[in-house]
Amino acid sequence: MSIYKMSDDAKSFLKKPSHDLFIDNEWKPSTSDDSIAIVNPASEGIIATVCNGSIEDVDSAVVAARNAFDDSAWRKMNPSERASILYKFSDLLEEHCATIAEILTVENGKLINQSKSEVMSAASTFRYYAGWATKIEGETIDISLKQAPGKKNFAFTRREPLGVVAAIVPWNFPISIASWKLAPLLAAGCTCVLKPSEVSPLSSLFMAQLFTLAGFPKGVINVITGDGNTGAALTSHKGIDKITFTGSSHVGKMIGKSAMENLTDISLELGGKSPVLVFDDADLKDAVKSISMGIFRNGGQVCVAGSRAYVQESILEEFLEKIKAFISTMNISDGFDTSSELGPLVSESHLIRVCQYVETGKKELKVIHGGKRLERKGYYFEPTIFLGKDNDSTLVSEEVFGPVLVVIPFKDKSDAIRLANDSDFALSSTVWTKDIDKAMECIESLNAGWVFVNSVARSDPHFPIGGYKQSGVGKELGKVGLYAYTKVKSVNIVYG
Ligand code: NAD
Repeated sequence: MSIYKMSDDAKSFLKKPSHDLFIDNEWKPSTSDDSIAIVNPASEGIIATVCNGSIEDVDSAVVAARNAFDDSAWRKMNPSERASILYKFSDLLEEHCATIAEILTVENGKLINQSKSEVMSAASTFRYYAGWATKIEGETIDISLKQAPGKKNFAFTRREPLGVVAAIVPWNFPISIASWKLAPLLAAGCTCVLKPSEVSPLSSLFMAQLFTLAGFPKGVINVITGDGNTGAALTSHKGIDKITFTGSSHVGKMIGKSAMENLTDISLELGGKSPVLVFDDADLKDAVKSISMGIFRNGGQVCVAGSRAYVQESILEEFLEKIKAFISTMNISDGFDTSSELGPLVSESHLIRVCQYVETGKKELKVIHGGKRLERKGYYFEPTIFLGKDNDSTLVSEEVFGPVLVVIPFKDKSDAIRLANDSDFALSSTVWTKDIDKAMECIESLNAGWVFVNSVARSDPHFPIGGYKQSGVGKELGKVGLYAYTKVKSVNIVYG
C-alpha cells in the first residue's frame, strides 16, 4: 500500500471548522445557524461543516448575480478580455490541481488520481470555452418581407447572454460538472449562482477562492452551499433566467415543474441506466477491461456507467469468466492509497441505498460475484455482478448508482437493440463489435444521447453530452453547450 501525502494547502483548508458562502466576491456567513456536516466516506469522520444556505442567502446571491449582469461589467466586457479571465482561471485550476483533488478525495472518496484527472478536465473545459468567448456570432438573413418603395432592409440575429443562471451540481463529479456549466455560461456573458451538492461542497468552495484571483468581477459567480431546500429556493427564485441542473431524474422533474411556474429556461442532465452490447466478434479482452472500468470507476457512481451488459449467448460463459477474473484482483481501498482501484461509496445513506438494491437483486437475479458491504471502516461495497434473463427486474430498470452490473444474454442484433432501448433512461450506450456495418446499424437504432463503439463512455469539452427520455433535456459541452446560455434576438432594420 502506498499512501499519497496531502499538501499543506489542503490540510490548512480542511482545518477550517466551518465555511462561509461566496457572494459578490466576499465570504459571508449565512443568515441562518443551520449547517451541514461533511463526512469523509473512507473514515466515516466529520471533516468540516458548511452553511445550509437560507432563502435570504439565496436571495443575496441572486441579487449579486443580477446586479453583475445588469451593470454589464461582464457581459459587455471586450470578449478577448473575458477570454483572458477564463484562460487565467483554467491556469489557476491546473496550478491548484493537487490541492483541489485532495479535498475532492477527502469529501467524496474518489481515487486521488481520478480526482486529479477531474480537476485537469475542468481546466480543459474552461480553456475550451475561453476560446468561444470571441466567437459568439449572429447571422445575416435575407428575409422576404416587401419594403415600401425606396426602402431597403437589413436583417440579422444577435446571440445574447441569457442572464442569471442557477447551476445545480451533484456530488459525483463536483468540479468537472460545475465546469460544464460555469465555463460556457461565463464565456457567453452570463452570471450565476452555483450550488454544489450538500455531500461534496468543499472542493467547490476552494475553487471559489480562485475566482477572485482570476479576475472575475464581483457578483459574476456566487457559491451557495446547502441541501435540496436551498436548491429549491434558488431554482424557484424569480431573478433566475436559466436553470442548469445535473442530478437525479426525480429531482430534475420537480425542478422542471417549478421552472414552468416562472417559465424559466432549463437544461436537465439526469440519471442513466446505460446498456453495453457485446457481440460475439468483439475483442473480449478489451471489452471486459472497459466494461469493468465503465461500471466500477468512481464506485459506479457515474451517470453514464454501463450498468446493463447484454452479451451474445455464444460468448456469455467466456465473458463471465473473464470479468470475474478481472474484478477478483481489484484493490478496494482508500482513495489516498495510490494502488486502490475502487474507493468507498460517497455516503452512508448512499451505501444503504445500494445495499437495499442489491438485496432486491438477490431475490430477482443470480449473483455471479460480490453482493456485500465490506466489513471495515468506510462505506465500501464489493464490485458486484448479477446474471439475468431479460429486462424484467428492478436492477435493470432502476439506477443503482453503485458498483453493480447486470449481465443478460441476447440472441441476435435485433434482440440486443430491443433490450437496450427498453428503458425509461436513454443517456449513453456502448457497442462492442469489430463489424462496422453492425456498429453503424446499432448507432442508428440505439435510442441514447451518447453512443460509443469499442470504448468506454468518456467526456471531452468538444463533445456534446445529454440524454434522451428520462435522462434529460438539452445538451452540455461543445458548441451546443455554449448556445444553451444564449438567446437569439432577431433584428430587422429598414432604412433609405
Ligand atoms: P440529486 O438529484 O439528489 O441532487 C443533485 C443536486 O440537486 C444537489 O445539489 C441537491 O442538493 C440538489 N437538489 C435536491 N433537491 C432539490 C430541489 N428540490 N430543488 C433544487 N435542487 C435540489 O442527485 P445526486 O444524488 O447529487 O447525484 C446523483 C444523480 O445525478 C444520479 O441520478 C446521476 O445519474 C445524476 N447525474 C447525471 C449526470 C448527467 O450528465 N446526466 C452527471 C452526473 C450525475
